[in-house]
Amino acid sequence: MSAASSTSIPRLTRAVIDLSACRHNLSVAKQSVPGTQCIAIIKANAYGHGMVSIAKALSEADAFGVARINEAIQLREADITKPILLLEGFTSENELDLVRKYNLDCVIHNELQLQLLEKESDDAITICLKVDSGMHRLGFNPDNVEDVYQRLEKCSSVNHPVKLMTHLANADDKHDEKTLKQIDIFYKSVEGCLSDKNTHDISIANSAGILGWPQSHSAWNRPGIMLYGVSPFINSKAEEHNLKPVMTMSSQLIAVKKINKGEAIGYGGTYVCEKDMTVGIVAIGYGDGYPRHAKTGTPVLVNNKRCALLGRVSMDMICVDLSQQDNVQVNDPVILWGKGLAVEEIAEAADTIAYELLCGVTNRVEFSYID
Ligand SMILES: *Cc1c(COP(=O)(O)O)cnc(C)c1O
Repeated sequence: MSAASSTSIPRLTRAVIDLSACRHNLSVAKQSVPGTQCIAIIKANAYGHGMVSIAKALSEADAFGVARINEAIQLREADITKPILLLEGFTSENELDLVRKYNLDCVIHNELQLQLLEKESDDAITICLKVDSGMHRLGFNPDNVEDVYQRLEKCSSVNHPVKLMTHLANADDKHDEKTLKQIDIFYKSVEGCLSDKNTHDISIANSAGILGWPQSHSAWNRPGIMLYGVSPFINSKAEEHNLKPVMTMSSQLIAVKKINKGEAIGYGGTYVCEKDMTVGIVAIGYGDGYPRHAKTGTPVLVNNKRCALLGRVSMDMICVDLSQQDNVQVNDPVILWGKGLAVEEIAEAADTIAYELLCGVTNRVEFSYID
């Protein structure tokens, strides 16, 4: 069978991406911090939604942020002309050449990057000095920030003034005081760098900062997960923040059967029927990105009605309890998450976060885009 004919056969598992919902979510981010700029974060294939399609849909974004240089190059090759910020910067001279070639902006967070910039006198690039205000992942120690800033200000290979940023570790918990501590440490560390000229070049807030921490708002904000219609906070729902789900994962029933009381279902027989039951088999599994750790009881929508996952998730299939449903048939539609069923709920049932589920959808799933 040729590749062309196999791809023209509709696939059982589908992810429909609602681009207008994504644009709506960006407008929520912008309205939450009026008069500031948004760097729409579209790393990891736009959290699994399709990076180029999302970038093209978000014409209102002021810039885009990605983690890796190959992601940025892919955007440029797709004719995305807005500023693109590399959140991890470059790792070598070779990558720095590519940064120039593709006109990318860079986060600078380590001494090696700084030294490479000091060696160069080529065309200036736009950079953002990252401060480690307490997350202890990327960034310069607050004690060294002023010194690093002065060194960067002397570089002819960077645009001036240098921008300043930090990242919040605990903003998803609205009661965690660490966020205010981080913001305080950040502003203290950059005090000596700020003049009237560059207070406009600060970036702190991720989605949780934008929606929950006004103290983190500054000239440039970096919404990620909220763009995809997911609440960034623990124990909160997307609707509370007027966010709309962007990805809807669906499949269909491929078998419906009666199973007697006392029989076990699926690998390992971890679920034993408490009564005679109608069980549906759905064509989706961890081979599509449905989480293997989803527990018995995880909600699934069959014909838009909630039912419960039973037993272990297999590579290609899951089993669901259809005892509460009448007239259910093979090929009936199933929604795993998205419209009508929050991905946060599935993430919780699988002991993970929505970010991971969205990023983990595999290429066996057929993507389509609606607007
Ligand atoms: C991923 C990321 C973001 C976006 O975070 P969300 O929680 O998805 O809003 C912002 N800033 C940096 C540096 C990131 O790595």
